[in-house]
Amino acid sequence: MSTEALPLLIAGAGIGGLAFAIRCRQHGIAVRLLEGRDAPTTDGAGIQLGPNATRILQDLSVAEALAPHVCTPDAIIVGLGATGRVLQRLPLSDWIRERHDAPYWVMHRADLHSALLDTLRTDHNTHPEFGWRVATAEPRASGVSATSEDGDIAAGCGLIAADGLWSHLRKRIVRADHPIPYSGKAAARTVIARDAAPEQMAGNHVGVWFSPHGHLVHYPVQAGRAVAVVAVTPREASTRGWGEEQSAAAMARDLGRIAPALDTAFARTAHWRMWSLFDPEPFPRVHDARICLLGDAAHPVLPFLAQGGGLAIEDAVVLADQIAQRGTALKDLEAAFAAYASARAARWARVQATSRRNGQIYQLGGPMALARDLTLQAIGGRKVMAGYDWLYGWRNAGLTPARP
Ligand SMILES: Cc1cc2nc3c(=O)[nH]c(=O)nc-3n(C[C@H](O)[C@H](O)[C@H](O)COP(=O)(O)OP(=O)(O)OC[C@H]3O[C@@H](n4cnc5c(N)ncnc54)[C@H](O)[C@@H]3O)c2cc1C
Repeated sequence: MSTEALPLLIAGAGIGGLAFAIRCRQHGIAVRLLEGRDAPTTDGAGIQLGPNATRILQDLSVAEALAPHVCTPDAIIVGLGATGRVLQRLPLSDWIRERHDAPYWVMHRADLHSALLDTLRTDHNTHPEFGWRVATAEPRASGVSATSEDGDIAAGCGLIAADGLWSHLRKRIVRADHPIPYSGKAAARTVIARDAAPEQMAGNHVGVWFSPHGHLVHYPVQAGRAVAVVAVTPREASTRGWGEEQSAAAMARDLGRIAPALDTAFARTAHWRMWSLFDPEPFPRVHDARICLLGDAAHPVLPFLAQGGGLAIEDAVVLADQIAQRGTALKDLEAAFAAYASARAARWARVQATSRRNGQIYQLGGPMALARDLTLQAIGGRKVMAGYDWLYGWRNAGLTPARP
């Protein structure tokens, strides 16, 4: 069988896998989307997407379905958790939309997943296969063969591993002993009703509260009906996985230390889940001849720039466009993987380095914290945001797919 008659296999229907599947279908490339979970994710947390990512959601025709569920915050308000003093107001809303031709959106993750899934199903008649956890992938003369944990087999011309931070398939590409070091920090997340949020957290803005004991981020989701809250604190021990439960009492104590100036009584009753944060150096390779990594599988990033999902969406269009340009015959696919890896490497590294630096800056104490606060006030909000033009102004230089 010629490889071009076989679909492209995608392992993982997270943000990256879904966006990649949509872009492939826009190009007319056949895919099989294999997802290990039994049902779509309903993870109860928020996500911020800058213009670099929302511009792509427009191109993927996802933005229209998503728009009723998002918020377009006015600004990022940065302050000190200890006193409640606002240090700076970084403009979003019209300012960033006009600058980068696309909005800055905040939303519930379940709403983003639903919009991606609905677009794939409705516009492209393509349905993820849930409960299909890829256990192994082996090269074949015709491409690649994936086997599920239940023993099912899927044949494809190639395989895109979009299977997240703890990618099982990465072991085929990157040496198993490549370290994924723990950062020493963990993020606890919750979503609360807007009525339950303290006044400083209930507005139409992203709030970032600095403290040497950790930092607190919040923003409205579900069209303003709820507020997503993330508290990042130093932790000695790490855990892997989908977010362990965290006791409300422990979180109330943490928030009381990070932001004593805010009324954080909600923490006592909220349902918190905790993610340990990992900080690997770039992987030496992200593909071989038949398998290519995408999203967190290729480049886990710390969340202090709110860009892991955005990068996965960018990856999706760059890789799909390269494949569309070259074709899915074996040598063409490998050339597409190589072009994608070289187009993306510098951006992945820059986002990770900036994110790492932000995480340090947010939690400074003593004279260094004072220097940070003075600098932030002296520079001014617009100038701070203009310094991120490289991030939010990113554009996909690839193909424009024919509209179905
Ligand atoms: C605290 C925190 C806050 C964050 N905030 C933001 C933010 O504001 N903005 C932003 O852009 N990013 C943010 N991120 C990062 C973002 O969540 C990730 O970068 C993004 O989810 C990566 O998408 P992905 O598709 O690569 O992986 P995932 O979303 O992890 O999806 C992987 C999928 O693969 C499936 N899977 C796994 N193994 C297999 C297998 N063997 N076979 C089949 N399927 C499999 C999983 O079930 C899952 O559905 C944050 C992360 C954290 C931890």
